[in-house]
Amino acid sequence: MKGNMQSWGPNVAQIIEHARVNSPNVEVVSRLVSGEIHRTNYSEVCIRARKLGSALLKKGYKEGDVLASLALNSYRHLEAYFGVSGIGAVMHTLNFRLHPEQLVYVINHAEDKIIFVEVPFIPLLEAIKDSISDVQEFVVLCDKGEIPENSLNNVISYEEFIEDGDENFIWPKIDEDAACGLCYTSGTTGNPKGVLYSHKSNTLHALTAISSLDVSSDDVILMVVPMFHVNAWSIPFYAPLVGLKIVMPGMQMEGQPLYDLIDGENVTFAFGVPTVWMGLLGYCKSENLVLSSIKKTVIGGSALSLSLLKDLHETHDIDVIQGWGMTETSPLGTTNLVTPEMRKMPKEEMYQLQLKQGRACYGVELKIVDDSGNDLPNDGEAQGHLLIRGPWVIKRYFKAEKDATDKNGWFDTGDISTIDQDGYMTIVDRAKDVIKTGGEWISSIDLENAAVSHPDVVEACVVGLPHPKWDERPLMVIVTNGNSLSKDDVIDFLTDKVAKWWLPDEVVFVDELPHGATGKLLKYELRDKYENLYMEN
Ligand code: ADP
Repeated sequence: MKGNMQSWGPNVAQIIEHARVNSPNVEVVSRLVSGEIHRTNYSEVCIRARKLGSALLKKGYKEGDVLASLALNSYRHLEAYFGVSGIGAVMHTLNFRLHPEQLVYVINHAEDKIIFVEVPFIPLLEAIKDSISDVQEFVVLCDKGEIPENSLNNVISYEEFIEDGDENFIWPKIDEDAACGLCYTSGTTGNPKGVLYSHKSNTLHALTAISSLDVSSDDVILMVVPMFHVNAWSIPFYAPLVGLKIVMPGMQMEGQPLYDLIDGENVTFAFGVPTVWMGLLGYCKSENLVLSSIKKTVIGGSALSLSLLKDLHETHDIDVIQGWGMTETSPLGTTNLVTPEMRKMPKEEMYQLQLKQGRACYGVELKIVDDSGNDLPNDGEAQGHLLIRGPWVIKRYFKAEKDATDKNGWFDTGDISTIDQDGYMTIVDRAKDVIKTGGEWISSIDLENAAVSHPDVVEACVVGLPHPKWDERPLMVIVTNGNSLSKDDVIDFLTDKVAKWWLPDEVVFVDELPHGATGKLLKYELRDKYENLYMEN
């Protein structure tokens, strides 16, 4: 028997309409490329998104067209999220840190018709313009008359583009499974793969994020996570849904400008990958500053280290919520909220629990399996391939011929994990990064975390290198804070923190580690660079 309630087809534009009616004056703050602070509110964002949506239709763009952005976190980009998807077109967010060849690949693979481009990225497009000749129009995210001299064809400013748009535009009804957004994986091996989100998946994901991250309307969110990657972890959807103020940092992601923005805008909740936090906390330490307005932070994308967790908690009195996910999971898969039980624990015990990646968000299921696909127990000990399924988890990559899941809908995340009796999932390593030595596994993440707890180690990266006797052995590559440190110092320091056979055979000191387009360590570069280190000895 069917229920007698009304059916509902979510178009993400309904989210910004909801904010216009219920939180019209809540601020949306952006630091512009010029450094100037721009203020608008949800009412204006919604009206301008309507103008953009209707202007696109007037100019002949239609449902199913893929329209791209090469942009920073700013109010016009936010308007485009709703203006583009709201008419049934697909918002394809481009990552400006991609290698030009990969940028060309994804623009052509997606068949982008428009690129909304931020002024500083125009040269990136000029350099590849002959290889992306199917793009019909470049809309520069600036005022009329502010477009710099350039060699692109069909260039128009965003303000001119939306000028004739209709402020009273009514969003069309679209199928709930219709495509809404497109984001490519970082593609550290092979070509990037496209993940095509739907209106339903983005809406359900946003609704779940609110409870899984404990978001409330009192919060003022600093959106440091980029809007070009996995929908900025869904903040552009759930912030207007809840009606809370968003603060966007634009280009300036260094310690001082971030600190000034947090302080000036009274930010209470900040989201970022560990590297951004390391920069900000380094600045606070050098200037003797405390992040007094921030109450909570979500850190994800890479493993959280104990030293970062302690610094945030003890120096800045911030609750750290670790999140785990990936492009293919929209991204939220698990979160680790600070619970009342945790607050009663001795500090060190609480930290150990917080270092776990967390429990499944309502709506997704997790399990671990062995190499043959057999289920493993949730006992906190068994390590296996982490599989996930749920309504915001990928089914098939964009334009792929077959599904990315098994016949029961499980997607293999490529991570090796444990899950304990209380449902807490812990990432042991990426399957491709785990170090296989003498038939046993070493977690590169655990070794890195042990190393960064040394006061002079700023960042550490561990990779497995081919070894004539043991198959692979670990190499540790370290960035120090400038104080002198030797291999022996590091090994001595690690000795009581990890098993003896985990200790790296070599420790190398460098000025900088290679990071990819989304801030992750590029371990394959180090593996290639030091490939023969142990074979030659
Ligand atoms: P993104 O979500 O940045 O697109 P990718 O899809 O490229 O990232 O990579 C997702 C991977 O990042 C995960 O499979 C996992 O290995 C790693 N990751 C994400 N969050 C965490 C976390 N909190 N701790 C450890 N690793 C993480």
